[in-house]
Amino acid sequence: MKKLSEASALARLQRGKAAFQSHIKVNYEPAARDCRVCPTPGVCCTDAHFVNVHITRLEAVAIRETLQRTPRLDDDARRAVYTRARLAVERYGLRTTTAGDTYAQTYSCPLFAPGTGCLVHARAKPAPCVQHACYDNWEEMPPVALQWRTERRVELLNEQTYGAAWAWLPTPLWLTLVDPEADGAELARLARAWGERRRPATQNNSAHHARARSRSLPVIAAR
Ligand code: SF4
Ligand code: SF4
Repeated sequence: MKKLSEASALARLQRGKAAFQSHIKVNYEPAARDCRVCPTPGVCCTDAHFVNVHITRLEAVAIRETLQRTPRLDDDARRAVYTRARLAVERYGLRTTTAGDTYAQTYSCPLFAPGTGCLVHARAKPAPCVQHACYDNWEEMPPVALQWRTERRVELLNEQTYGAAWAWLPTPLWLTLVDPEADGAELARLARAWGERRRPATQNNSAHHARARSRSLPVIAAR
């Protein structure tokens, strides 16, 4: 498999996500409910009983770079995101477990900021979040295969960049691992453990994903 530098992979990831996001926006979002008049804005990001979005190592780095660059955040607000992530990991018991399904772990997303919304909306949004909206009719929803295709491309970019040294994990957990103020020891330890796996990373993650895909974020609004 052709190897990629992290910088090249990040650029490809951003292009792929942007194409996916504009496809959803043009072809499906017109039929979705308008988030600007939602009576419970952001509940789809903060419902700790339901949100189980997982991301990969490369996406975590993309989120960190986006948080670093966005002019909407000063240093305190940026640090607050990582603090919320750490609190979410503790509060919801998020773990890199190998026994059991990490997709059973749910949390309130630390990337949601009241009044602003998703802090990585434009440049680093996870695929389930791009796909998500509230629809009144099932038949108007984007097919889940679109999300899976995007996620498969994300997996390939991770493999080309990190080999087997990555995994799908809950977003807050990944944010603590790539926190610019972390010493990197935990990520290095996990990367070694993942790298030693004697199997392609995607096999396992795809199996996890198949179970999770139908429950990543609430989608349908009741009439
Ligand atoms: S996706 Fe649905 S729940 Fe979330 S803000 Fe929009 S309308 Fe509200
Ligand atoms: S990444 Fe953004 S859209 Fe997705 S759950 Fe978090 S705040 Fe919501």
